[in-house]
Amino acid sequence: MNLIFLGAPGAGKGTQAEQVCNALNIPTISTGNIIREALKNGTEMGLKAKSFMDAGALVPDEIVIGIIQERLAKDDCKNGFILDGFPRTIPQAEALDRMGIVIDRVIDIDVADEVIAQRVSGRRVCSECGNSYHVEFRPSKVEGVCDACGGTLVQRKDDQPETVVARLKEYHEKTEPLKAFYEAQGKLKSVQGQAEIADTTKLVLEAVGAAE
Ligand code: ADP
Ligand code: ZN
Repeated sequence: MNLIFLGAPGAGKGTQAEQVCNALNIPTISTGNIIREALKNGTEMGLKAKSFMDAGALVPDEIVIGIIQERLAKDDCKNGFILDGFPRTIPQAEALDRMGIVIDRVIDIDVADEVIAQRVSGRRVCSECGNSYHVEFRPSKVEGVCDACGGTLVQRKDDQPETVVARLKEYHEKTEPLKAFYEAQGKLKSVQGQAEIADTTKLVLEAVGAAE
């Protein structure tokens, strides 16, 4: 099953993608994580992406399209995958079509802008493995330490309030039109984001068609 998770920054795409990829045993591909990893390793692509990311702007299409093309060619994507944070523009969606990638379903996680701001401010990520936490809604077992790898949890630079406003603007202008794009193909399923992560997961699994 080839899935796309859509939603505003902080809507919980990544968290939900993680739950579903465990349930279906397919990988999650997060362009945000791949870019942050490249940045950490000081690669040329990471350096190119940095100024856009720090400003809360989308990274240029050709960079992220290149990333996805390379990643989807790997063996572990053969039985399906979840795209978390790609596509984020119509040209990115068209690029997937051109690659001959057939998407089965697009899950849109819908959360109001006011709620987003509150969620993003409490978000922490592991500086080593990229796992995501929330101080209130999804705390690590030991404060400031990643459950998965023991790495240090940090706040992302682009999770600061001023930058979040810019990211939401980008989302509404460039990403939200994808809802109509996939609706027209009969692939869109919208899920209302719930206060409890597990409650959203239940709805998402139903939307994916993977609920028991
Ligand atoms: P979130 O979903 O919380 O916004 P991500 O980790 O998915 O976080 O993305 C962080 C940043 O990485 C984005 O603000 C953008 O700068 C860049 N990015 C990630 N995916 C894409 C994409 N598909 N197109 C353009 N920029 C992207
Ligand atoms: Zn970690």
